[in-house]
This record gives sequence, C-alpha cells and structure tokens, in this order.
Amino acid sequence: MHDVLPDKSALWQWLEGRVAGVLGGYGYREIRMPILEMTELFKRSIGEVTDIVEKEMYSFDDRNGDSLTLRPEGTASCVRAAMEHGLLHNQTQRLWYQGPMFRHERPQKGRYRQFHQIGVEAFGMPGPDIDAELILITARIWQALGIQGLELQLNTLGTAPERAAYRAQLVTYLEAHHDLLDEDSRRRLHSNPLRILDSKNAAMRDMLDAAPVLRDHLGKESAAHFDFVCQTLNEAGVSFRINPCLVRGLDYYSRTVFEWLTDRLGAQGTLCAGGRYDGLVEQLGGRATPAVGFAMGIERLVAVIEESQSAAVAVAADLYLVSVGEAAQRVGLVLAEQIRDALPGIELVSNCGGGGMKAQFKRADRSGARFALVLGDSEIEQGTIVLKPLRSQDEQQSLKRDALINYLTRVFGR
Ligand code: ATP
Ligand code: MG
Repeated sequence: MHDVLPDKSALWQWLEGRVAGVLGGYGYREIRMPILEMTELFKRSIGEVTDIVEKEMYSFDDRNGDSLTLRPEGTASCVRAAMEHGLLHNQTQRLWYQGPMFRHERPQKGRYRQFHQIGVEAFGMPGPDIDAELILITARIWQALGIQGLELQLNTLGTAPERAAYRAQLVTYLEAHHDLLDEDSRRRLHSNPLRILDSKNAAMRDMLDAAPVLRDHLGKESAAHFDFVCQTLNEAGVSFRINPCLVRGLDYYSRTVFEWLTDRLGAQGTLCAGGRYDGLVEQLGGRATPAVGFAMGIERLVAVIEESQSAAVAVAADLYLVSVGEAAQRVGLVLAEQIRDALPGIELVSNCGGGGMKAQFKRADRSGARFALVLGDSEIEQGTIVLKPLRSQDEQQSLKRDALINYLTRVFGR
C-alpha cells in the first residue's frame, strides 16, 4: 500500500480530471460508494472459486460480529448501490466511480495491495451498442492521456447456456491433457475450467491455444452481438485482436469481454479490463438487468505515462511571495489576498515560517514559480513590491501595488 507523494499527486489529479472529462462528455455520472461492504456481497458476486474470494480479500468481523470486507473491486458495490436506491427501475444508468480497492496479492511492479481504479458501469441496455460505446470511450481516454501503442483484445463469452455446452467440451479436452495442467488448473478443472484458459503459466500456453474455442458454440444472437461490436470498432478505426483465451478473472461476465494491454509494464500489462455481465444484478437479488462495464488501474496508467513522459503536467507555482521582516509578513499576506481576488486560479505561495532573503529565494526557486514577489523593510517604506523573474534573465522591477496587479493580469490573465 503506497502513499502518493506531492510530487506525484499532480499527475494523478491531471489524469483523474482528464478521464472524468471524457466520461462526462458521454453522459456518465459519478457515483461514490463506501469502501467497506458486507463480505457476503463479494462472495455472491465475484464467486467463491476465484482468486479474489479464495485468498485476496481483506475481511474482518466488526463489533457486531458482521463480516465486512474492504472492497476488492467496484462493480459489486455499484450494483448493490444501484439496486438499493432504485436506480435500475425502468431506466438506464451510465455511472462511473473511482477510488481505492484492496487485494492481498503478492506485491510487485504494477500489482499492489491497495490500488486505485476508475470504473464505469452501464445498466439497462441489452444491445451491443453500449458495449461498443464503452470501448470507444476507453480509446478516447487513451487519447486524452496521450497514451499510445496499447493493444485491444476482444472476446465473447456467450450466454450461460452457451457456455455450459462449451464448458463440457473444454473439460474433456483439458482432461485429455491432464499431465500438462499445473496445480491451480487441476483444482479448477471442475469448479471453474474457463479460468484455466487465461492462465499465465507459459508451460501450458501451447496446449491452451489449441483448446476448443467458445466462439464455435455461440447461438445466432450472441454471434450477431459480437459482430456488431467488432464492426463498429472497425468503422470507428479502433483496431483490436480477437483472443479466444480472454475469459477475465471474474465469474459474472457474459458475451463481450475486452482488455487493453501494454508491453511496457512487464507481466502486469493489463491497463483496463471489462465486459458484459447480464446475470449479476439478478444474482444479487435484483430484477434481471443487462449491464456492461470496465475498470482501469490508475497506478498502471500513471506508470505508462511516466515511462513515456507524454504528460507535461505543470507542478510549478506561478508566484512566490518573499517577505522579510514582521511588517512585510503582514503586508504580504494581505497583498497575496488582493492578487488572488484579481486573478482567480493563480497559484501563489506565500513564504510562511520566516527565514532570511537567501533561504526564502531558495524556497521560491524550488516552488518552480515564474516570478518572486519581494517585500522587505525598504519596500514597505516606499509602498512598492519588487517583481523578480525566476525563469528568465529579465531585469527585476519595482512596482506600486496597482501597477503590479496590472502587470500580473497581463501575464497570467485567463
Ligand atoms: P490482473 O490480470 O492484472 O490481475 P485483474 O483481471 O485482476 O488484473 P480487474 O479485476 O479486472 O483486474 O481490475 C481492472 C484493472 O485494475 C486491471 O486491469 C489493472 O489495471 C488494475 N488492477 C487489478 N489488480 C491490481 C493490483 N493488485 N494492483 C494494481 N492494479 C490492479
Ligand atoms: Mg488479478
């Protein structure tokens, strides 16, 4: 679990702002859920035979003896909240959320025990149009973040009955290759055989690539659904690769599933993953409601952006106010308020905590400010302020208050 220190938080804020902007532009609205839920919610939604529920959840009994869990993902909470507040009654919803998620995984680059996601969920729309919209949104998010070179992988998991027929055939195939299966896969062979397909064990890769594929078991409607998504992406110029082994870690998906991958983060290459989960709302006790969503990992996005240095995120202040002496400190704080009144949004850092001229200029330099404003005893006497450029060779000037504000308005006016 990591702290996001001030030198990184600007990038996080920039990223979150950009993504929120894109989502708002498609009519999605933010929902904020609690970080804790009843443990039962995740058991019922994610499924008992999953890594998350089997071994990754932070669960504890509270003082009433209720078992609570720090959320490992957002979809279950979002569905719970939407059901609880009647958001799914005869209406569609386009929702997004962001925040920390918790999984007791083995920590490594791109894999943490507290990590952050931005998630999107759309409810009440059964057709492939909304699946395609979600994928188009993700493509636009990469554009807004200046991230290039990702691969989009796509697959369909069909409906539950289609999957059942396929599952039987897959189990037969895997049983025939029992000697190649690792321990995890043997355990899953009868509880959750589809999950074996997305195993990261390289020794099983060839065998899994040759396994029967679910797409051959699709009914007409599921096939048409998938074709619509593929065609729309083609026409919108979003390229993708169909990966029959893409099954997603969670049990509740149906039909469309997708992932965006990068080769720049080693083994933790999935930046964003999602898909349709038409059965989940009913499984959690609601009225059957079609649903589709995705989630992206903020730490991994931040890592990709930093690695490609595509984000020139401004972390510098505009102005740093140097004030030496008690009178200058008082006058300075008032002057700073007047500058803020005249120039809303300007980033002005007042030197607080004293210090001599030299120490204060050092801090001014570290703040990244373009100008220092300097107040000392002689400026107070003359009613002036010294404006000193910190990032150019321009001469400093001594100005009266009004002239200073006029000058700053010309430079920083927005
Ligand atoms: P992975 O295959 O990498 O374990 P996942 O299938 O478990 O991912 P999801 O539950 O679909 O991931 O979560 C969506 C996204 O959240 C992932 O694509 C990834 O970017 C991010 N993510 C998931 N787990 C972690 C983690 N432990 N640390 C950091 N980011 C994570
Ligand atoms: Mg995982």
